[in-house]
Amino acid sequence: MGTEYAPARAMAPTKLAYFDDMWALRSTATVVSLVQQDGGRRAVVLHSTVFYPQGGGQPADTGVISSGGARFLVEDVRMKDGVVFHYGRFEDVGDGCNSEFSEGQSVNLEVDAERRNLNSRLHSAGHLLDICISNIGLSHVEPGKGHHFPDGPFVEYKGGIPPDQLQDKKNKLEKEANELISKGAKVLACILPYEEATQLCGGALPSYISKGSTPRIVKFGDHPGGPCGGTHVADISNINNIKVTNIRVKKGLIKVSYNVSP
Ligand SMILES: [Zn+2]
Repeated sequence: MGTEYAPARAMAPTKLAYFDDMWALRSTATVVSLVQQDGGRRAVVLHSTVFYPQGGGQPADTGVISSGGARFLVEDVRMKDGVVFHYGRFEDVGDGCNSEFSEGQSVNLEVDAERRNLNSRLHSAGHLLDICISNIGLSHVEPGKGHHFPDGPFVEYKGGIPPDQLQDKKNKLEKEANELISKGAKVLACILPYEEATQLCGGALPSYISKGSTPRIVKFGDHPGGPCGGTHVADISNINNIKVTNIRVKKGLIKVSYNVSP
């Protein structure tokens, strides 16, 4: 039976800098704790972070946290009870001993821009398909799960499409998405009171958003917005191109597989 890691003391939630400014890839922060987990995995906890923790169908950022001669290579980022854990390892500085951080130290954060950019494009592409699916006459389908990972991204909808229409819908969906990309539209992300958020999302919010809460809403141009905690491109023209690779209907779920060009 494995022992589960329990922090010695409860840590305050990490400030999610990407919530307010999802295009900032560098920042400074203060070290709250250095955590050693079962199996020897290390984690750095900071008071705030520009790193995106895996969630909402989007993979974690990678990058570097550094201070003085110490460099911590961030390989994975996860959030638990509001606390963001940057997992990775200290770079060997070559003299046989690794330089590390201490609690309260100020450190520099730098997110891997190339990886983040691809993840943001894939996430925005998923949201754009939600808009397009209703534009091509499938407004009755209900958005479900989204998987915006480079390894086989897809979006799912509850509903159906007659088999003889699948190819036509696939072509129309791809055409509509690329038309909207070529027109472009600014992407807005903000935290709003429930009523205001409802208005921005076309008059209704999903039932998992509790009344009285202040959800974060992501909105493309004049299209209805939706609740989302992820990162996105600044303008949908930055998605560049969407390829709808497959549409499959199984057990009342429409699975739309897609990709973006490199
Ligand atoms: Zn999203």
